[in-house]
Amino acid sequence: MHPRAVLFATICSLFFVPSAFAENQARLIYDMPANKLEAGIEKEIRQSGEMEDVVAFINDLFRLPMPKPLDFKLGGKEGPLYDDKSNEILIPYTFIQEVRSRFRAADYSETGVSVEEATMDALTHTLFHELAHALIYIYKLPVLGKEEDAADGLASVLLIEFFEDGAEMAISAADLFDLESDDIESFEAEDFLDEHSLDLQRFYTTLCHVYGSDPAKYAYLRKETGFSEDRADLCIDEYENISRSWLFLLKPYMQQNKTNSAGTKKPQP
Ligand SMILES: [Zn+2]
Repeated sequence: MHPRAVLFATICSLFFVPSAFAENQARLIYDMPANKLEAGIEKEIRQSGEMEDVVAFINDLFRLPMPKPLDFKLGGKEGPLYDDKSNEILIPYTFIQEVRSRFRAADYSETGVSVEEATMDALTHTLFHELAHALIYIYKLPVLGKEEDAADGLASVLLIEFFEDGAEMAISAADLFDLESDDIESFEAEDFLDEHSLDLQRFYTTLCHVYGSDPAKYAYLRKETGFSEDRADLCIDEYENISRSWLFLLKPYMQQNKTNSAGTKKPQP
């Protein structure tokens, strides 16, 4: 298993409580690559094994009663998105390529995180973001505020709470939002009409949550991002709120040995 991946051992079967609903799992599916470029990306993703680890993590953490398996399908033209008709999360190979190109063009390896690592970090964040849409739809979870912000919140919470280098992975994902924001030369009405917050807002919000999760460790982020003392204090409250809220809402869908009523304490390996 990749060193950045999941902390805990697979002992869920010992604690499994049978559900009255059909139990289904998340699955990773590789769609047929459409061309040589896509074939190259597919091969790399397969060889890294990291997406398998992420899907195994989801199955390890959650029990998901649903009519059919939740498929994370790599390939195709549409996405990233959750399709509620087919219960599929679609992530095109071209999206992965685009993410990698952005990190490469920005010489991201100079940050100490390789382009390949940053791409996997951002891809994992994307998978968790889409998982949030799926869980909200399937279980009719309450959402107070923008669903897109809530989905970013779950992605950050899962990374920070359950992955060894999760906060660093969330920082890579935040940096991708920053790079995407460079596409915008001037704002149009559509940017504000969009269901997503602006990329630059997603960048700052994600970093705010990373800071809020461990203010001592990420004090440097506060300085780098320019958060005032008051704003930084709010980040601590915001992260406490989103982590507590998400873990509370998902508690009924978590394997019993994985639930953590404290909400923000990392499970031990
Ligand atoms: Zn979304």
